[in-house]
Amino acid sequence: MQRYFVTPAQFAGDRVEITGDDARHITKVMRGKLGDKFIVSDGESREALVGIEEMDGACVHAAVIEELEMKNEPRLAVTIAQSLPKGDKMETVIQKCTEIGAASFVPFLSERTIVQYDAKKEGKRLARWRKIAKEAAEQAHRNRIPSVEQPLSWKQLLATFTAYDAVYFCYEKEEGSQIGDALKPFVERALQEPLSRASLLLVVGPEGGFTEEESRAAEAAGAVSVGLGRRILRCETAGMAALVCALYESGEMGGV
Ligand code: SAM
Repeated sequence: MQRYFVTPAQFAGDRVEITGDDARHITKVMRGKLGDKFIVSDGESREALVGIEEMDGACVHAAVIEELEMKNEPRLAVTIAQSLPKGDKMETVIQKCTEIGAASFVPFLSERTIVQYDAKKEGKRLARWRKIAKEAAEQAHRNRIPSVEQPLSWKQLLATFTAYDAVYFCYEKEEGSQIGDALKPFVERALQEPLSRASLLLVVGPEGGFTEEESRAAEAAGAVSVGLGRRILRCETAGMAALVCALYESGEMGGV
């Protein structure tokens, strides 16, 4: 069933107003009719099955039919920090990791980041990334849209590490600790209570990888250096692989 994200302010009691692109999608693409049903989520605490009551071109007025339980979000909030890759790979990272269950994205610049960061142009790219996150979250029946933050410098990224319960520096030269070795004790400790939640930051390098200096700086800032197996993954694959490991280990896909 089609789903749309709205702001909490668009809900008023047992009514909701859909506007903008979403209203156009309902009326033009879905050819909505009075009574048609779809799901609306405010991305925070409310999700409901609603039915169209009135359409006046720019706005679709709908009535709540049934409040829905918001149970599609992982207990482990995983943030993907991705050194800006070339071309449209960042769009792939955002789309696929949103489908899998990432909580947020932090693009950053590191020594071997190839793309030049142009703050003026970035505004358009950031808006496109956020649109991709919203559409992927709707398609994946997520209860919330992952945030896509402004790109950070390497030093700015290091300073955020203390905000997370754990930080894994995905390092292609790491031959010791693999991600599964780090995840097991972390999940056992951080998610042992059924309703407990935790946060994890996964740091992934660009096509050229990380320097030794960056590896040392990341560990000094509190990250754990982890391998993702003996194969070298493309930068746009590595975050997905690490995210799946983290969500599997935290019980999102059964099995553990
Ligand atoms: N240029 C590097 C090389 O040839 O060794 C490869 C960098 S890889 C394309 C891009 C990023 O993906 C790395 O910086 C790392 O964050 C992650 N990555 C890829 N394979 C990995 C692995 N086996 N273990 C840990 N991280 C990996």
